[in-house]
Amino acid sequence: QKVELVSFVENILDRFDMNKTDVIGIERKFPKEQIKTRIDQDKITQVIDNIMSNAIKYSPEGGKITFQLAKEQNRVKFSIKDQGLGIAREKVDKIFDRFYRVDKARSRELGGTGLGLAISKEIIEAHHGHIWATSKEGQGTTIYFTLPLKNRKRGNQK
Ligand code: ATP
Ligand code: MG
Repeated sequence: QKVELVSFVENILDRFDMNKTDVIGIERKFPKEQIKTRIDQDKITQVIDNIMSNAIKYSPEGGKITFQLAKEQNRVKFSIKDQGLGIAREKVDKIFDRFYRVDKARSRELGGTGLGLAISKEIIEAHHGHIWATSKEGQGTTIYFTLPLKNRKRGNQK
């Protein structure tokens, strides 16, 4: 069944906003129109939870996170931007590899296994979407992912 993505994401972010230990502001940039598409809600929730927890985990206290949702021609584009530590240019594509962690010592202190983004990538690709990142060391990171909006061609199915 189709899910309305704006309210779906609003509900997930409300849960982060209510968690008072995350002293970080979440700015929401959402379209006014509804965006409906077929998704596995539990799986996409898992993706957003991981990206949001990373943004919080790798940001200084009080850093701002900007969550943007944008409807494009055939897809919806999500972006989650933080003002955290950032990632060196030559390492940014590796963060989607299983068990890859940028700074081993620092990451150990922060906890985690290095699987969050690898699992997120599997989920997004199973939805026929894409996931990628841009980052500047010392300035912050943006994680993007897309989900298709139109039904994929059904071949010779009638
Ligand atoms: P897990 O998600 O399994 O608890 P993790 O957060 O270390 O552990 P991933 O979510 O896969 O694993 O992220 C991989 C690595 O990418 C992280 O260890 C971190 O070095 C880097 N990283 C991910 N998101 C960010 C971010 N927003 N800012 C800076 N570095 C990040
Ligand atoms: Mg993670």
